[in-house]
Amino acid sequence: MSFPLKCSAFFLAAVLTTAALADAPRVAHVFIISFDGGKPAVIAQSEMPVFKAMAAEGAHSWEAQTIMPSITLPSHTSMLTGVTPLKHHILWNDWKPEEGLVKVPTVFSVAKQHGLTTAMFVGKVKFKHLNVPGTVDTFVFPLADLPVDAQAAEKSKVEAKPVAAAFASALAGGLKPDVCFIHFSDTDTAGHKYGWGSPEQIQAFAHCDAALQIVMRAIRAAGLADSSVIILTADHGGHTLTAEQQKANPTAAKGTHGLAIPEDLTIPWIAWGKGVKPHFTIPRPIGTCDTAATALWLLGVPVPAGWDGKPVTAAFE
Ligand SMILES: [Zn+2]
Ligand SMILES: [Zn+2]
Repeated sequence: MSFPLKCSAFFLAAVLTTAALADAPRVAHVFIISFDGGKPAVIAQSEMPVFKAMAAEGAHSWEAQTIMPSITLPSHTSMLTGVTPLKHHILWNDWKPEEGLVKVPTVFSVAKQHGLTTAMFVGKVKFKHLNVPGTVDTFVFPLADLPVDAQAAEKSKVEAKPVAAAFASALAGGLKPDVCFIHFSDTDTAGHKYGWGSPEQIQAFAHCDAALQIVMRAIRAAGLADSSVIILTADHGGHTLTAEQQKANPTAAKGTHGLAIPEDLTIPWIAWGKGVKPHFTIPRPIGTCDTAATALWLLGVPVPAGWDGKPVTAAFE
């Protein structure tokens, strides 16, 4: 065998080894947990010992940015598809069956193509727009467990506790999703009704932290904590209307979001778990599209070309 051939065979082997390493999963499970309307400034004021301990222990940014419009369904769609609304085209914010389902790949559909399992546990019915058949193995909106007339009365959302309880019971029953999304709604509901940063909303953040504790206990009890990364984030922040705006329309909500202002656009982005740099402030700018890309990268799945999001590799060892 000539030297050049040997040499190129060695080179080829080296390239293959590098490629295999690059695609090796860094973790077995990624859990993305979204606090609806989770504005960092209000989190700072709230009693959230579980959330704050994970932020301190892990890698964190309090200055991540969501997309415009900074509203629930478009923002979560970007979080879970890795692309902005210019590409995913979900600009409405309700469950509208007539609009159909998301038409771009999601973190779930790409994970499924690579043989992984997927799950969503959500507090708002509108997430059904992301539940494309064959892509989400387990989709739980706990309201569906209620009788149909109660569902109509309860409308479109449930609080964090039943969502966390549904997640815990699924894990206790043996579910081990590779990529899993969990959504808590209370913080947004209280923000609209009483204002962002109101005492009532601060209480809602504490309720969601208790739900996070249920989730974390379930992950530990299932033996998954050492092989997982948990991402804590939000779809948008929010702001309270001025006294004049409230006076002009006394029946309207006290709080809102959807504008291109820092109060509405700024979200937390925290990674906790296997391989995460401890006690680390992530220096790079983070956008919500980066969440889906980071989840795939952690699981060893190539991030699709054309995604706006990029893995937040700086958060990991
Ligand atoms: Zn929202
Ligand atoms: Zn809202």
